[in-house]
Amino acid sequence: MTGTHFSRLRDDFPLLARLVRGRRLAYLDSAATTQKPNEVIEALRRYYLEDNANTHRGVHFLSDRATDLYEAARERVRRFVNAARADEIVFVRGTTEAINLVAATFGRACLRVGDEIVVSAMEHHSNIVPWQIACEQAGAGLRVVPIGDDGEFLFEEFEKLIGPRTRLVAVTHVSNALGTVTPVRRIVERAHAAGVPVLLDGAQAVAHAAVDVQALDCDFYAFSGHKLYAPMGIGVLYGKAEWLARLPPYQGGGHMIRDVTFERTEYDAPPRKYEAGTPNVEGAVGLAAALDYVERIGMAAIGEHEAALLDYATARVGEIDGLRVIGTAREKGAILSFVVDGFTAQEVGTVLDRHGVAVRSGHHCALPAMRRFGVEGTARASFALYNNREDVDQLIEALRAVRR
Ligand code: PLP
Repeated sequence: MTGTHFSRLRDDFPLLARLVRGRRLAYLDSAATTQKPNEVIEALRRYYLEDNANTHRGVHFLSDRATDLYEAARERVRRFVNAARADEIVFVRGTTEAINLVAATFGRACLRVGDEIVVSAMEHHSNIVPWQIACEQAGAGLRVVPIGDDGEFLFEEFEKLIGPRTRLVAVTHVSNALGTVTPVRRIVERAHAAGVPVLLDGAQAVAHAAVDVQALDCDFYAFSGHKLYAPMGIGVLYGKAEWLARLPPYQGGGHMIRDVTFERTEYDAPPRKYEAGTPNVEGAVGLAAALDYVERIGMAAIGEHEAALLDYATARVGEIDGLRVIGTAREKGAILSFVVDGFTAQEVGTVLDRHGVAVRSGHHCALPAMRRFGVEGTARASFALYNNREDVDQLIEALRAVRR
């Protein structure tokens, strides 16, 4: 798809047409959550108008229909991340739940006193805290890969941390606070050479480039639907079949069993073993619609469009006195984090909001990364397929108002 087409995509997102504080909306907070295209909103509406029932329970028409839609969505996700098998796709609430699922089950099955989990200094809290909880329960500990002044993942330091006690590496694919793209392929290769499995946090990656879990060869990959034009409350954990077979269940309940007696329970096969309770069919349907939408545009084209916007925005914020970009890695996702001398991130965000510019202000749930750069927070503009130069120009105009 060409640049001209991108200029029309804003119209696919009805919310972007609303005025905010009397101004055109420049929505630059897609790393927090994306807006939803008509196609996704319509899929949700159709689901409740025509197909709603509980899954895997009845023999009636609608129950079969809801089950088919849910399983078709699983197959759609499999294709999107190029997993080898649909049963390697577990539906969860989002990235946070996906990582908690692995931390809790891996922790119970594989972590012992003195073991180590390796994370990086740029992780989102959801890829730190679940591991801390698992480590605390097992008597294990975290080792942290430092990051450079530009926000790069320091690969040589990472290599030094891999040792005989390392049980798992959990790192982000793209940093939500700095934008850094981490060298995930090399990380997986190096960890596997030491027999260590790898979990990748793909929350900020999947909406911006094609992800191929087989090519990455990661053991687990986690992401949220809502950052990918799909509804909130649906997300994905990809896990290699051998891991999903080996780990114990996360939660117990309906939908995840073959047989229950008071003496013992036989669990269903993965992925159902990890999907206790009534599933989010609506969310899965919305996610499948979102994947159809982005793949029709093309992940490579989306990536190019956003990279061009990031370059334009990075050049233009240079016009603002006292503005410092936090996170200047060579390879970056669609994220521009910055501070302005003499103003807190909240103050910057509040002035931008008055100009109809929506950015995230604060620590981005990545306090250790903020402290690494000596700041308590930043303002963060993040880009999606519906953004354009007009959004960036509106941001720059609003930043001039902050300076005034
Ligand atoms: N990991 C990263 C890198 C994120 O950016 C986010 C959300 O901002 C998360 C994890 C958590 O995602 P969710 O809140 O959708 O579970």
